[in-house]
Amino acid sequence: MPYLDNAGAALPSKRQLDELSKFRNDMILANPHSRHSTALKTKQLMNSARLRVLQYFNASSDDYFVVFTYNTTHSLKIVAENFKFTRTKTEEVSEISNILYENQSQFAYLYDSHHSVIGLRNFVKNRVDSISCVSENAFENIPNTSNSLFVLTAMSNFCGKKYDLDNIAKLQEKGWSVCLDAASLVSTAPLDLKKYRPNFVALSFYKMFGYPTGVGALIIRKNSEQMIPKNSFAGGTVQSVEEDSFYFISKDLEDAYEEGTMNFHGIAAIQHGFDEIERCGGIKNIQNKTYSIAKQMFKMLSTKVHENGKQVVEIYSQNSSEFGTQDEQGAIITFNIKRPDGGYYGYNEVEKICAIFGIEIRTGCFCNIGACRKYLGISHEMIQNNQRQGKRCGDEMDLIDGKPTGAVRISFGRQSEEDDILVVENMIDNCFVGSMAQFSQVSTSLKIHNYSPEVVRLCAFPIKSCASETKDSFNLTERGFEYDRDFMIVQSGITLSLKTHPELCRISATISEDKSMLEIKAFGEMLEYPLKYSNNSEQERFVCRNKISTISCDEKTNKWLDNVLDMQNCQLVRVTNDSFKSFVNESPFLLINEASVHILSQIINIPTSEIITRFRSNIVVRGMPPFIEDTAKHLSIEGINFEVVDKCLRCEMICIDPDTGVKDPSLILALRNFRKNQKLTFGIYIRQTSFQQGTSINIGDMVQFN
Ligand SMILES: *Cc1c(COP(=O)(O)O)cnc(C)c1O
Repeated sequence: MPYLDNAGAALPSKRQLDELSKFRNDMILANPHSRHSTALKTKQLMNSARLRVLQYFNASSDDYFVVFTYNTTHSLKIVAENFKFTRTKTEEVSEISNILYENQSQFAYLYDSHHSVIGLRNFVKNRVDSISCVSENAFENIPNTSNSLFVLTAMSNFCGKKYDLDNIAKLQEKGWSVCLDAASLVSTAPLDLKKYRPNFVALSFYKMFGYPTGVGALIIRKNSEQMIPKNSFAGGTVQSVEEDSFYFISKDLEDAYEEGTMNFHGIAAIQHGFDEIERCGGIKNIQNKTYSIAKQMFKMLSTKVHENGKQVVEIYSQNSSEFGTQDEQGAIITFNIKRPDGGYYGYNEVEKICAIFGIEIRTGCFCNIGACRKYLGISHEMIQNNQRQGKRCGDEMDLIDGKPTGAVRISFGRQSEEDDILVVENMIDNCFVGSMAQFSQVSTSLKIHNYSPEVVRLCAFPIKSCASETKDSFNLTERGFEYDRDFMIVQSGITLSLKTHPELCRISATISEDKSMLEIKAFGEMLEYPLKYSNNSEQERFVCRNKISTISCDEKTNKWLDNVLDMQNCQLVRVTNDSFKSFVNESPFLLINEASVHILSQIINIPTSEIITRFRSNIVVRGMPPFIEDTAKHLSIEGINFEVVDKCLRCEMICIDPDTGVKDPSLILALRNFRKNQKLTFGIYIRQTSFQQGTSINIGDMVQFN
């Protein structure tokens, strides 16, 4: 599955979790503030984790120390809350400036900052002379100051732009303290604290290696802690305190900042994250790999054009025609997709289609309103206007007056592969450019075992060839889904099929809630047939070359069928209770892929949901590229094993409109065009490799191919 939201969180690898679970047996840890041996062991593990963090960032313990926090946001807050500003003005700051000032005590940040940085201004506004939100231009002429804090974004989480870290020293020379927001940078790039020497570094470990969550770090340069003297205390952070006066003496270094009991289990686990990075050849290697994939993706996206020659993808980056160098650009690409007429597709639409293809991406503004506004050209008026129109973070309003309110972000990580580019290209070609891509090529080069789609629809057809019954869950029997094709209609001994009698699709058969009745509805009439087996005589019949023993249902039902179908000698027959086979022609289950349906739906303009009905499958899955199911051999659905028996060969039956019974050939033509000289298959027949009583298949079950 292409997971392209690594800037949201890295994913732990299976290997990493396996390693961790071995170590888990050793994880009897206790409160590190106690002094018994389990507590001491815990404290030791935390201290070796601190050392590992320093080593990883090439910092010596003479130079830096590590404070564990909950995440980047928490690290930033510690700096802002305690920073020793020395305000001279008397009134609270009420406006944000866009320049830096000479000799004021100020708080400043880049416009391209995460909300967690911007939000700090509310902590500091009554302790500073000014607050500034600036662009990089501000670094060309940095004014002298002291007791001022600059929070520098190391890499934009919006578009992957890397900021020049030489600015850290330039700011420091002019008297600034610099806090580096490294959260986004360190997920795919190294940070060398011998080369760049910020006063503070904030980061979250889940962005580096996925696990643990709830642990971040504030790395503090020695002596810079004097700029953030603790003005409060809590359990674990005081040397000496009185409960009934304001007297307290803070502990030193990390002990001053780690308030209360930290996530010591999580902290002990970060060693395994660093081990994982080493197993991947180190962070430089990960940087090279992710950069190279991102660059190819950029090239692919930037060269997509509509038939009329217009660009399909509008990319938001420092230079939209060329991907920056590794020093300028990280493994993030942010964009919107445009129509041939120059209008935009909303990012929600793109996100939904990505979901069908199994592509996991992030949409919106990614908590970075400054960069979002700049790259998308959104003015202050538009923000306020959008707000008035009801636009809220995370909502469905992706376009207002035709203009995008956010974008689509693709971000790579250590598990990304070049194949991910193919999947995205495939999706764009088919759903947004409208040209037919080479599916056969794509589906053979992609590996189906990398995907674990989800079951999104389940159907059974209690009466063969009639309309389906959809449910959230079906019990499994040796014949297939419970009651699936247990019944069929014969006329004068011959099975009625949809091919010869398209009107059958207008007869619906469902099983009553208490499973006592088969409810048949047709043309406004309804009949109930009791499901309890009677001892009617058995008869052998051939259904599609298979001999099956059947029993006949009662005369009343037969008469009713004659009447609704306007025919004579109709008969409802049923498989015997102990039959191993139902009236299916092939295998008991037909599985189809929603993405493949989507491709056909794009071509012929019939809604996906209708096409799904026409394909009469039992199981619909979502979350893998189109037509990749053609390569499946074995699969399991929540531990229940199936093998693929065959691909499902299609005929003109798929042309029958399920509501009217009228034939319309476009679907089969589309399938024919698509399959070219191959057989007209769609979907796969599967069967259980061994049957187990008491199992079921449910909506939301995960499918694993192997
Ligand atoms: C993710 C991110 C943050 C916030 O990190 P949390 O772990 O949510 O606290 C801050 N800044 C940047 C640049 C980020 O990418």
